[in-house]
Amino acid sequence: MERVYNFSAGPAMLPDEVMREAQAEFLDYQGSGMSVMELSHRGKAFTAIAEQAEADLRELMGIPDDYAILFMQGGATGQFAGVPLNLAADGGKADYFLTGQWSAKAVKEAGKFVAVNRAVDTTESKFTTLPEPADWKLDGAADFVHLCSNETIAGVQFDTFPDTGDVPLVADMSSDILSREIDVRRFGVIYAGAQKNIGPAGVTVVIVRKDLLGRSGRAVPMVLDYAAYAESNSMANTPPTFAWYMAAKVFAHLKADGGVAKQAERNRRKAESLYALIDGSDFYHNPVAKHCRSVMNIPFVLADSALDETFLREADAAGLTQLKGHRSVGGMRASIYNAMPEAGVKALAEFMQEFARTHG
Ligand SMILES: *Cc1c(COP(=O)(O)O)cnc(C)c1O
Repeated sequence: MERVYNFSAGPAMLPDEVMREAQAEFLDYQGSGMSVMELSHRGKAFTAIAEQAEADLRELMGIPDDYAILFMQGGATGQFAGVPLNLAADGGKADYFLTGQWSAKAVKEAGKFVAVNRAVDTTESKFTTLPEPADWKLDGAADFVHLCSNETIAGVQFDTFPDTGDVPLVADMSSDILSREIDVRRFGVIYAGAQKNIGPAGVTVVIVRKDLLGRSGRAVPMVLDYAAYAESNSMANTPPTFAWYMAAKVFAHLKADGGVAKQAERNRRKAESLYALIDGSDFYHNPVAKHCRSVMNIPFVLADSALDETFLREADAAGLTQLKGHRSVGGMRASIYNAMPEAGVKALAEFMQEFARTHG
């Protein structure tokens, strides 16, 4: 059996060690004679998995005790509605940073529930830059401020976050959670769909400061209600147990592998090597402003787009898959989350150099 280097933006690669462990326990989880998939979510064995997942994530991210960690469903897209419903009353207002395709979707969904002020809107740049903090137009009296810390499609990432004072800052960290150290205290809510840096699709992590539970005072559908999930240890309904279990394994793996600081160091090296190659060549081009380039998702185009199909075919044959760029951007995109080993990035860089040499 041969595993490829999978550069997909999501669902994305998971660490080999985690996959093998899951495979070994697939039919018989720790002597239970059952798969994790067949365990009761309220039984002892699964409760232990759930508790360990929470404890490990708390340790990895340095999440203080006055924050609840929720394991929900509905993906980040569910949270596009969940955030305004939990944080703002009917008739409330919120500041949104519109910096890419995902925050654009968040803005659209939030507009159903609150008045949205666009503190920043980089649509005209085709989402290739972030304005300086001096140009952020925050309302100051909003119910919350929302941003997407890493725009997975255009490849734009926040380096510094706005200081929003008493107004809760909310971040969609779906594609960069656990990839670098962040100060959780700066945020009221952090949320992330699992399928980029956490585990398989189906579970959504929500980290919420406890004083914000029940904040909106309005009716919230139960499956999006932070207070109901906090109160029930995320068992308000049947949780996605297998995805949660896999997430727990990824957390344990990260802890054993040096934690988030170590990942950040590796991620920086991986991204720098690809950006250096792209910037140093006339054959490849990345359109994103240098101060806000993503460490996780690296879009690039070939000087001659007629070569796109050949590039993808030859990359595929070399075991480098899922490099096709998002349809809205074109070209290529290399998503290099935590689980992408440095050897995978090195193999891609060598392939790109060779391809430029033979086709340039
Ligand atoms: C993938 C992604 C989403 C959408 O996640 P779903 O789980 O499909 O809802 C939202 N935001 C960001 C930043 C993403 O990368």
